[in-house]
Amino acid sequence: MSVKFTYFVTMRIKIIAILCFLQFGIVFSQINEDLICAEKNRIINRIQKRGISNIHHGFEINYHRCHWYLNPIKNAYLKGRVLFQFRVVDKEDSLGFDLISGLKINSISYHGTNMAFSRKGDAVYVKKVGGWQSNDQDSFEVDYEGFPANNNGFGAFIYDNHKTGPVIHTLSEPYGALSWWPCKQTLHDKIDSIDIYVHTDKSLKAGSNGLLVETMQEGDTNHIYHWKHRYPIVTYLVAMVVTNYDEFTQYAHLVGRTDSLPVLNYVFPQFTASAYKEIQQVLPQIRLFDSLFVRYPFVKEKYGHAQFTWGGGMEHQTMSFMVNFSFDLMAHELAHQWFGDMVTCGTWRDLWLNEGFATYLTCLAFEYLKGPESAKDRLRGMRNDITGDPNGAVCPADTSQVNVLFNGRLTYNKGAWVLHQLRKTIGDSAFFAGCRNYLSGANAYGFGNTAGLKYYMEQASGKNLAVYFQRWFYGEGFPYLKINWKQRGSKVSVSVEQTPSNMMVPIWYIKVPMLFKNKTQSQLFVWEPQNLKENYEIELPFSADTAIFDPNVTVLAKASVGGINVDLIQQEEIVIAPNPGRDVASVFCRNSNMTKIQIFNSVGQDIFSVDYGNEAQKFVDLNTSKWSTGAYIIRIYAGNLVYSKKWLKY
Ligand SMILES: [Zn+2]
Repeated sequence: MSVKFTYFVTMRIKIIAILCFLQFGIVFSQINEDLICAEKNRIINRIQKRGISNIHHGFEINYHRCHWYLNPIKNAYLKGRVLFQFRVVDKEDSLGFDLISGLKINSISYHGTNMAFSRKGDAVYVKKVGGWQSNDQDSFEVDYEGFPANNNGFGAFIYDNHKTGPVIHTLSEPYGALSWWPCKQTLHDKIDSIDIYVHTDKSLKAGSNGLLVETMQEGDTNHIYHWKHRYPIVTYLVAMVVTNYDEFTQYAHLVGRTDSLPVLNYVFPQFTASAYKEIQQVLPQIRLFDSLFVRYPFVKEKYGHAQFTWGGGMEHQTMSFMVNFSFDLMAHELAHQWFGDMVTCGTWRDLWLNEGFATYLTCLAFEYLKGPESAKDRLRGMRNDITGDPNGAVCPADTSQVNVLFNGRLTYNKGAWVLHQLRKTIGDSAFFAGCRNYLSGANAYGFGNTAGLKYYMEQASGKNLAVYFQRWFYGEGFPYLKINWKQRGSKVSVSVEQTPSNMMVPIWYIKVPMLFKNKTQSQLFVWEPQNLKENYEIELPFSADTAIFDPNVTVLAKASVGGINVDLIQQEEIVIAPNPGRDVASVFCRNSNMTKIQIFNSVGQDIFSVDYGNEAQKFVDLNTSKWSTGAYIIRIYAGNLVYSKKWLKY
């Protein structure tokens, strides 16, 4: 789904990138472009072929009992029986459900007799003699079979091989459920309760949602895995996976509970030893999210992982399917149990409430479990990704355009940054209270939307957040800031000039934090400009040689900072400021003019030079935004003299 997703990680990742469902992305230079393209194409293909259900269902689903018969040792053939129990909404002659036309329906049984049905594309309509009355509680059972469509080998029902065995897994988000089972494919109605019986070869295990109730022998060669889930679940999160798994359980100790939450793991046998070690990292993550937000939503059942071969992870309710068990991917899929599963996006336009939150909770896992600096690094990496393009809003302009809907830069990264900036604007206590109320209020175990999140954040903070949500959800782009400062004695004058990156937003109301410092002292100032250009005069009780924009990484903007301390300049012939710096290095020459500047990297290679010829300069701003971090030597030619100065990019 998403297109390009940049994860900022500090370690080289061996396998494919970390792809969370519908997010392709990775680690700076380690992007595996081929993989990304392949993943993107397969998803686009699937979504475009499936389209969006526009069936009139006419009922509210209460319960499913699903029997699925499959044996990946043989092939990808699926037989199934799915019981629907439902409440009829209004008086109806016929009711509809979704099932891809390529799967054959053997019968639809209605209290022991066969029921008439008709099919139109992926819609199936059942007809009852005399029709239904509103509020009727009723049921029918669909018996079907076939090879689920998988778009030339890829799709919602995937038949594959890992190194030591064949595997079948499902992955229905967003529109793929109907590809393999008869269902009500919608974002408006959760299934209240479900039983899943997977009939398969007895050498294999089947993972699914909820609790494993029992395994039963079936003939000589098969057994049945019976899973039961008693929490509301949206259709696309119902899933199963079958292969020759190893299994182990670990336990998360949640604050305020004497018992522990089982974390059940199904892993490919060749990865058992490494997975056992890696998955231990999810235990403090569960404890963290459980304490920061609300109780783990499915605490009466389990959390778990099942390994699969798809290039990422998918947050299937109570059992995430995972390509590997990296800290990031586990945090992201776990986070979805609250944001995405317990409260599901109410429309695909609100997808950032799943993906932005899961991306941000991964940052929180870094902040709380690996240290604040690691979270800042991650947020800086995401901010670079977001500001790499001047356009784009968190709200997708058109949900039928897959690249727009599942855009890693916008739905994931910008969504996460909008949450982070909100937290820094209203404070931790209001932010986390707002999140808790969003999860436990009217949306609990249902569907959420952006207006609902705004409501809970306003309640918790006591602030009117209309402008914030309006601009950051709908608005395209972000602010560019040009900040200049000049210190003379204890007085510092600062100018802050904003240029919105996209004309759609005339001005962004953001905070502008600036840290002025020298080797021993520092002081932070925070302004909230109300105009595109503002000037500030401040008193600084020490002589600054550097000013840094947003040292704590709290503002979504791209800034360039140039400055000068006149007192320092008067002492030195050449001054480069700020040093260390980031996007701009301003070079000043006190007594003469510069005829040439030459830049060398840390290994002495000449990477850049500029000759001013007859237009010798006293003051030059070097744009260093594209330089990689590290030390540089800046050589300045002025008159008959040559100066070399070390400059550090951070
Ligand atoms: Zn996700």
